[in-house]
Amino acid sequence: MILDIRRIFENYAGPVERKFEADFSQDDFPGYEVPQKVEGMVSAVLEGRILVLTLRETAGITAPCARCLDEVRQEFLIERTYDIREGDWQDEEAELPFTPEGRLDVTQLAREEILLEVPSVLLCSDDCLGLCPVCGKRRPCGCKPQEEDAVDPRLSVLKQLLTD
Ligand SMILES: [Zn+2]
Ligand SMILES: [Zn+2]
Repeated sequence: MILDIRRIFENYAGPVERKFEADFSQDDFPGYEVPQKVEGMVSAVLEGRILVLTLRETAGITAPCARCLDEVRQEFLIERTYDIREGDWQDEEAELPFTPEGRLDVTQLAREEILLEVPSVLLCSDDCLGLCPVCGKRRPCGCKPQEEDAVDPRLSVLKQLLTD
């Protein structure tokens, strides 16, 4: 979705609000996917000489848990506010994705904010115990602790005798 910021400055007659949808299901994100449509809203309110732009979006992501690889589904509610001054779109270092004509690519902005918001390491739960190195299943798996941790000490003595 494209929002014509320059026109809002030129013909301001009150707050502007626009809903948008964005499909990022084919895009690359680091360690997760955004398989469903993202829904959001932008609003722009002129306060003195500053246009206060607010972006809100809900992004549902899926990712493998960093410890047990189970699928994690999580929703992120993202809200950001930006101050825009007239002519900001001509600034090559503008933080927002403007065209030189003063149009703002809201879809691209929504995508950038997901990248900033979603951590690249996600867990199915904070106390996920991860996978058992013995049986490969999610812990707790029923393996006895000593089987996971180390070789039985009696066996290691035997092993030493055999190698000496
Ligand atoms: Zn997990
Ligand atoms: Zn196990």
